Amino acid sequence: MSRPRIFIDREEIARKVAVLAARIRADYEGKNPVLIGALKGSFVFMSDLVRALDMPLAVDFISVSSYGNGRESCGEVQLIQDLKGPVQGRDVLVVEDIIDTGLTLACILENLKKKGAASVKVCALLDKPSRRRVPVHIDYIGFTVPDRFIVGYGLDFNEGYRYLPDVCLLEDDC
Ligand code: 5GP
Repeated sequence: MSRPRIFIDREEIARKVAVLAARIRADYEGKNPVLIGALKGSFVFMSDLVRALDMPLAVDFISVSSYGNGRESCGEVQLIQDLKGPVQGRDVLVVEDIIDTGLTLACILENLKKKGAASVKVCALLDKPSRRRVPVHIDYIGFTVPDRFIVGYGLDFNEGYRYLPDVCLLEDDC
């Protein structure tokens, strides 16, 4: 496999997580939101974000895939694993690793709408707007990135590289 090259280092990521957390904490003051992590890629960002938030909140996870065999479908995206808890009447913050075509997020938002969340906002560490196929609104964006394949900090290539502490590019893609 190719050797990944650091694109956004861990210190810069940590600074950005702190900035995002400060904005989110201010916006959700006095509330007890449910943070919903989109598996698997968001698990590292989600864990750093909840600790930086340091406020009352609940967490849940959802898994959707463009090539899975789930029961429900949102166009080209399949629901693989639904939320464990109810979100009816709750303030929900979807936490995504990266928004690419927007199809995954659109599927998650449709799912949450059906479940009657009181409010739904989106926080994404990375945004790749040049690849968008469906319009989606992202309330909190960490970094806007070009159309390059990213690994590390939870993001994988064939399940590899998730453990890398920095956001990296595969050498072939540098
Ligand atoms: P979308 O549905 O917006 O096209 O894609 C969202 C999902 O595709 C992300 O949650 C992620 O799993 C995957 N993805 C999109 N771009 C990248 C990338 O550059 N690197 C990796 N590792 N995954 C990506």
